Amino acid sequence: MRVVVTGGAGFIGSAVVRRLIQTDHDVLNIDKLTYAGRVETLNDVATSPRYRFAQIDITDRAAVADAFASFDPELVLHLAAESHVDRSIENSSVFITTNIVGTHVMLECALRHWSALASRRQSGFRFVHVSTDEVYGTLGVEGFFSEDSAFAPNSPYAASKAAADHLARAWYQTYGLPVIATNCSNNYGPWQHPEKLLPTILRNAVSELPIPIYGTGDNVRDWLFVEDHVDGLLLAASAGRPGERYNFGGDGERSNLQIARAICGILDEICPRTGGQSHLDAITFVADRPGHDFRYAVDASKAKRELGWVSAHDFESGLTRTIQWYLSNPIWFARSDNELGRRGLIGEP
Ligand code: NAD
Repeated sequence: MRVVVTGGAGFIGSAVVRRLIQTDHDVLNIDKLTYAGRVETLNDVATSPRYRFAQIDITDRAAVADAFASFDPELVLHLAAESHVDRSIENSSVFITTNIVGTHVMLECALRHWSALASRRQSGFRFVHVSTDEVYGTLGVEGFFSEDSAFAPNSPYAASKAAADHLARAWYQTYGLPVIATNCSNNYGPWQHPEKLLPTILRNAVSELPIPIYGTGDNVRDWLFVEDHVDGLLLAASAGRPGERYNFGGDGERSNLQIARAICGILDEICPRTGGQSHLDAITFVADRPGHDFRYAVDASKAKRELGWVSAHDFESGLTRTIQWYLSNPIWFARSDNELGRRGLIGEP
């Protein structure tokens, strides 16, 4: 298939692009290369004749329309977004522009393209809108988000993604564009931007710096290994029903403090601190994020039942693989240290 991937130089998007190229699809990666986009995430596939890259801002309608016209996609996987909650609290403007206006542009360009296709190609075309469980708001100690949970976003990031989800739904309901929406829990794995929680803990631990944890560290997220998420997105594209929403979660609920302790435990074995202390001693509690959602947990039974999706990695195996990758690629941290140090950012996705 000819697949347009937006945000393909980001954490999840690059995993999608690598998988598509490795499974013999043609890919056009549309990515603005913001601070979060890194072309080295695609080193393994960049020279493939099946891979094309267009440095385009998804809010640039003329450029996106040209890309559709010249590439003639059969599938769009829309991942480009501003993705970091802390940044959205600092300055929401670019979240509104990219996540809402950019999604509108993508839907409009896809609609023009799809409307002009012959009916056989029209029926096979899909637009997969990739979103987050954060649109559903926050949970108490019990319960799970389902696809029918009401939207109640609490951060500017979550609100901008929820708005984009509404647009995606409306373009299906109003125009019949075959849109499939996916909402997944926190991803982890190789190539994640070092500002996010797992890389932050790892980077600070191996650098023997304080490991910052928000508030009391009790906030709970459901962790999904990025390759399992890629499986889900590709299944949604091939077997999902247009107009439907699918949740993906890893059955891997952990509090932030549990995550930090798990990483410290593994590092104590394979990368001990100088001086004989445990990495656990570096855990430091810092002022909580404003409006910090307490818990996210996803009921992924619809994706399992209808798409045959399984999350193949339990948290322990995924975490070990992730830690090994970061320890083997210290340059990934080094490149971001100056910028992150200047901004003083820490955080979760
Ligand atoms: P990321 O921040 O790592 O990557 C985002 C990518 O989008 C970057 O390559 C960036 O250059 C590109 N981009 C940003 N603005 C753009 C614009 N205006 N035009 C073109 N490209 C632009 O994000 P991620 O963690 O890979 O997340 C990908 C998608 O998955 C997002 O839509 C996010 O909301 C969603 N999601 C992420 C998680 C998670 O845990 N990371 C969880 C649920 C949903």
